[in-house]
Amino acid sequence: MMLSFICCCGQITHSVTRPSTCPACGDLRPELLRSPEATATFISDPGHGWLIVSRERFAAYGLKPAQITPYSYRSPDASEVALEEDCDAEVFLKAFEARHGIAPYIAERFEDPCPIRNWPQFGSRRR
Ligand SMILES: [Zn+2]
Repeated sequence: MMLSFICCCGQITHSVTRPSTCPACGDLRPELLRSPEATATFISDPGHGWLIVSRERFAAYGLKPAQITPYSYRSPDASEVALEEDCDAEVFLKAFEARHGIAPYIAERFEDPCPIRNWPQFGSRRR
């Protein structure tokens, strides 16, 4: 699962993990380039918030429903999971950071009313 990293010199490096130096100029720690693969969407309503990731992406990081509490939901077509902010969002964020050496960008959105509350429960982890 490759991401793109950009240096201040303009050099773009495609890599799974963040390069420690730019291969072109040797500058330290190229930045993560914004892309859908580098971004996770966070949807909140007036009471709560969820990190939305596709089921495919969730599995690609080696994650399992058993690691997620029943406070998280899945979309009715099962293509997306909504990881609740207090415990479960962090499971994905930590897996992302462990894999890539950097946190993803978060794209925030506010929805009121928020359909996620009516989605079926997803996780099976006991708190
Ligand atoms: Zn550079």
